[in-house]
Amino acid sequence: MTGVGRIALTLEAVAAPASTKRRRVMRGLVAVSFIATIAACSSGDDSRPTSDMSAVNDATTVAAHDRAREECLGGSVISGGPLGIATTVAPITNLVALIVGDSGVTVTGIVPEGTNSHTFEPPPSVAATLEKADVVFINGLVLEEPTKDLATANMKAGAVICELGTAILPENQYLYDFSFPEEGGKPNPHLWTNPPLAREYVTLIRDVLVTRDPENSAKYESNHDNVVAMIDSLDDAMATATASLPVDQRKLLTYHDAYAYFAKTYNWTVVGAIQPSSFEEPTPKDVAKLIEQVRSENVKAVFGSEVFPSPVLEQIGNEAGVAYIDVLRDDDLPGGPGDVEHSWAGLMRFDYVTMVEALGGDATALKEVDISVDVEDKAYYPQ
Ligand SMILES: [Zn+2]
Repeated sequence: MTGVGRIALTLEAVAAPASTKRRRVMRGLVAVSFIATIAACSSGDDSRPTSDMSAVNDATTVAAHDRAREECLGGSVISGGPLGIATTVAPITNLVALIVGDSGVTVTGIVPEGTNSHTFEPPPSVAATLEKADVVFINGLVLEEPTKDLATANMKAGAVICELGTAILPENQYLYDFSFPEEGGKPNPHLWTNPPLAREYVTLIRDVLVTRDPENSAKYESNHDNVVAMIDSLDDAMATATASLPVDQRKLLTYHDAYAYFAKTYNWTVVGAIQPSSFEEPTPKDVAKLIEQVRSENVKAVFGSEVFPSPVLEQIGNEAGVAYIDVLRDDDLPGGPGDVEHSWAGLMRFDYVTMVEALGGDATALKEVDISVDVEDKAYYPQ
């Protein structure tokens, strides 16, 4: 791992979902091409593409997400008892719990907060949760394979695994980068940090619940509409906050690469991510090049995350003379269960405010968003 590659992604070639695209055009935030400069594993290779844009209209790639959606919406109607639902990471647990509301359906999270969800191996005790589930909601995009395997081995007849991200995002829109290289076969899975994609998650969650438990469909519809309205507010506020930052200041250098899809939507630039795909530390040579890059691109701050404390990022911040902010989170919800902030929206707002303010923007619109929805989150969150 010795080189730093400069890779151009033409965003318009990677079609956003229609609704996302429409909203972006309305705001005048039309995505143009951006340069993602990331450390590359192969020395001196400045031309390695991160994704194959020729696959945009490939019918076989579209079929993969159609298949995942079909799997989500499979299974029989449950009558005579509440649905059992298992979920993996906390932001998804919260989104599911908000659509479920007070319908009596149990929602049980699996990945403890503050855990590295990318390397998480479920303990054998999780099998008991999976045995009872009618639906196992996971993010997909190859994030939770050990949990998926355990679910496949233990689920009862008629139960389904719903890979939300895999079902909503065609493969030709997957993003690959330094931390999630295409040759590793694991695309960047962080769709939920991007509000328009989170909105698609909740709509699919509603569709699954209505299909399996039609008796409670009015509740699911109403909760869905409340949650979508809240996500729309957060989305609008993020656009407002983004507009307060000149384009050349919207630069993200993060340790954990959780904002690729977010950056694409709001016209930010992911200058780089530092964490290698092995989840170990980058080499001193990589670090030296990143320091040089922070200086030459005039990046104002570098961001670490709570789950992945890294002395390397601190070193980059110190040596480049820029702020080092180590509090971003990608799936560890703020506060504790029962708090309004202990939610997908609380998590995202915290991250967005942190990023916007550190880069010199105005986060007032984000702080003013009402992230409470009139639904109680009754899910179980392992800590
Ligand atoms: Zn992550």
